Amino acid sequence: MTFEELDLDPALLSAIEQQKYHKPTPIQEAAIPILMERQDILAGAATGTGKTAAFVLPALQFLLDEPERSNHPRVLILAPTRELAFQIHKVVKQLGHHCDFPSVIITGGFKMSQQMEFLRQPCDILVATPGRLAKIMEEDAVDLSDIEILIIDEADRMLDMGQGPTVRALIEAIPGDFQAGLFSATLGGGGIEKFAAEVLENPEVVQI
Ligand code: AMP
Repeated sequence: MTFEELDLDPALLSAIEQQKYHKPTPIQEAAIPILMERQDILAGAATGTGKTAAFVLPALQFLLDEPERSNHPRVLILAPTRELAFQIHKVVKQLGHHCDFPSVIITGGFKMSQQMEFLRQPCDILVATPGRLAKIMEEDAVDLSDIEILIIDEADRMLDMGQGPTVRALIEAIPGDFQAGLFSATLGGGGIEKFAAEVLENPEVVQI
């Protein structure tokens, strides 16, 4: 399969070419069509499989297809650690290079005041760690009412790190209907299954 066959916008194909991705990885081949059909997904894929592009590309394609101008984020990507959030944000910027979708990253270790200032600017894609995003929410400094896609990356690590309750509270704070994708290195174990059942609606399950 080729990226062209995945029906991605030329702006994305051009960014993919710049990244020298010659063909989709198995998780991209499986997950991109599901997310582009606006279905929920539970994906078992470890780091190194190309999982980041597997959710970033459909999110960008969604924004291209439905270019409503909201000043508030429409895509929320949650990651367990600062390092992972920065890696994801980098991929958002690389693959969104030919698009005009402002993104913001919110993690611990940086000034809250500055992050709240970033969130006063237009933002389509918000990449965040749960703890800091929860703090920002307590300050009423982010509006999640326009979120249409929620991605939870490395969900197993999140649960291991004890972030489950924070993530659940964040999800409850999203008022509208949204598509959700849960990515995890492992799908076994009651924790992930229970979490997925709470967050996802009739998900397609993909295991790489
Ligand atoms: P990830 O699993 O998202 O952390 O990605 C692992 C590495 O694979 C990253 O360095 C990506 O840049 C790279 N990558 C992602 N998709 C592809 C692809 N289709 N072809 C080649 N490399 C890729």
